[in-house]
Amino acid sequence: MTETQTIAIQKVSKSRLPDVDFDHIPFGRIFTDHMFVADYADGQWKNLRIQPYGPLALTPSISALHYGQSIFEGMKAYRMEDGSINLFRPFDNLKRIQTSAERMCMPFLPEEVFMEGLKALLHIDQAWVPEKETDSLYIRPFMFATDDYVGIRPSDTYSFVIFCCPVGAYYSEPVKVKVETYYSRSMEGGTGFAKAAGNYAAALYPAKQAQAKGYHQLVWTDSKTHQFIEESGTMNVMFVVGDTLITAPADEKILKGVTRDSVLTLARDWGLNVEERPVRVSEIAEAQKKGTLKEAFGTGTAATIAHIVLMNIEGEDYHLPSVEGRVWSNRFLKTLDDIKRGKMIDKFAWNFIL
Ligand SMILES: *Cc1c(COP(=O)(O)O)cnc(C)c1O
Repeated sequence: MTETQTIAIQKVSKSRLPDVDFDHIPFGRIFTDHMFVADYADGQWKNLRIQPYGPLALTPSISALHYGQSIFEGMKAYRMEDGSINLFRPFDNLKRIQTSAERMCMPFLPEEVFMEGLKALLHIDQAWVPEKETDSLYIRPFMFATDDYVGIRPSDTYSFVIFCCPVGAYYSEPVKVKVETYYSRSMEGGTGFAKAAGNYAAALYPAKQAQAKGYHQLVWTDSKTHQFIEESGTMNVMFVVGDTLITAPADEKILKGVTRDSVLTLARDWGLNVEERPVRVSEIAEAQKKGTLKEAFGTGTAATIAHIVLMNIEGEDYHLPSVEGRVWSNRFLKTLDDIKRGKMIDKFAWNFIL
């Protein structure tokens, strides 16, 4: 984007907002009126525009569809107590999409394109940011390859798009998970740290099998030994054992969650023991048997904190301590919510208020 580049704006003639029932919002099915689009060609991002949300014209040969040269982000805007709109740590999502792009041989996405696009879109669709405290506006930035060419090589052209969905509380109930010890989502040298489309397609089949047995999600283990816990579908996973918060290290095999980092930052600030280290499946099972496992939860933008109430380990169901007694994860959830809504001091400068 050159400095003189402006964003062309084409507005809808009639907003769909009056048709939305904000008391019953299904996750990810209602889209705001507009989307932001930018195209990459000849080594440059150009044609920045806001247009009505709707179908894109694509040729059938684009490599995003065939070989998965496609990456995405997930973030949220919140309505603050004073009515203003807050983006939570958007620069961390920007950094991560840049990291994902590099791994997938996609072009660098400059801060101006990402942030200006985001701001322009939120400005035009600001009335869509829900008022209710449990609700928010989910934002999906993504980039994909668009060359009209069927060969396998990095594309020369790309599109970057941002669209938004108003959403309610993500998990209405605490989750039951199965610890997966056969299939893998990532490996050393792989793409686990990138929010790359194919990672999620590959996870569908094993997840579907666990769902058929009544579990909501999988907890992945390392691909070499399947003895160490990595993360869940779109959440990092943490445990409180005794008075220590334990989570897998953010190496190349796991996605470095913004929520994960926020929780660890709060935990350290509160003086809780924090260990980022390989977590053995067996030590979690042992801790549960001994009664030292206090809490287990997932962290991610969609739910912030998702309590894990049941873990299936090697065919055995472990019923974990009740959600009400979970001091730390409930405190993380409340504190993060309060910061995002402007009810608590934003000590770590996480908020980006529009
Ligand atoms: C997006 C994602 C997370 C959570 O990241 P947040 O930035 O906290 O939303 C965790 N694991 C995977 C695999 C993800 O795709």
